[in-house]
Amino acid sequence: MRQKRAKAYRKLMALYSMSFGFRQPYQVLVDSEMCKAATDSKIELAKQLNSVLQGDIKPMITQCCIHELYLLGKTQQPAVDLAKTFERRKCNHREPIPGDDCLTSVVGETNKHRYVVATQSHPLRVKLRSIPAVPIVHVNRSVMVLEPPSDATIRTKEYSEEQALHVSGTEQRSLASSSTTEPPRKKKKGPKGPNPLSVKKKVETIKPPAKDKGKGKEKEKPVAAVRNPVVGEKRKRDDAHESDRTEQAPADSQQEQSRRKKKRKRKAAEPIERVADT
Ligand SMILES: [Zn+2]
Repeated sequence: MRQKRAKAYRKLMALYSMSFGFRQPYQVLVDSEMCKAATDSKIELAKQLNSVLQGDIKPMITQCCIHELYLLGKTQQPAVDLAKTFERRKCNHREPIPGDDCLTSVVGETNKHRYVVATQSHPLRVKLRSIPAVPIVHVNRSVMVLEPPSDATIRTKEYSEEQALHVSGTEQRSLASSSTTEPPRKKKKGPKGPNPLSVKKKVETIKPPAKDKGKGKEKEKPVAAVRNPVVGEKRKRDDAHESDRTEQAPADSQQEQSRRKKKRKRKAAEPIERVADT
């Protein structure tokens, strides 16, 4: 399968899954003509369905449809053998009815069992297009084709989206949601940006250490804060100084400091004198 087609089919099956609740394995109702077409053109039906629907599949055949194959006789034995490998779908038609009518009744008006229909009958395909959410598969020149979504399918999908007021689907979603989801994104971006938070943090980090240093020497605390309100390193040095001072004398003043320095000088000078004396 070409990539372009594979992508289109993937999108389409996503639509059926998201908007209409289709789940794997997809239940595929195969009609008698499809079985014939598959054996005539030697298509591996299950494998082809698998790649077209892009997922696990469960092929099914109704009692009426397999009965049609029995009526064709031995010439169509390969088609009968193929159909026998499928799961039998009970349709409860006591007397077998034409395959198209049987499938129409099994799908019903809403396709509530979420069947995919693989049929070579053109009239049946036309009929199924009027029912929302019926994926239709047929074989064209030994190539299996998944029909684009019918108008009924698209209309129902759009209607249900409007009703729910929330967006789902594929193409429509991206178009519709671009206008509704972008504004909230912008709002979210707003509060994330501004710097004031980082500024506040700085203020907070400065205050707690100032309190700690204030313990036991309340007089000096304000002085330190005034000297270096912002820079942390310098303050630490000051504190080291101050703690030295406080160990020596709790009440400090410049005069006392100068006196002490003088005393130290004298003490340092004394030993030299003694040496000179002796
Ligand atoms: Zn039937």
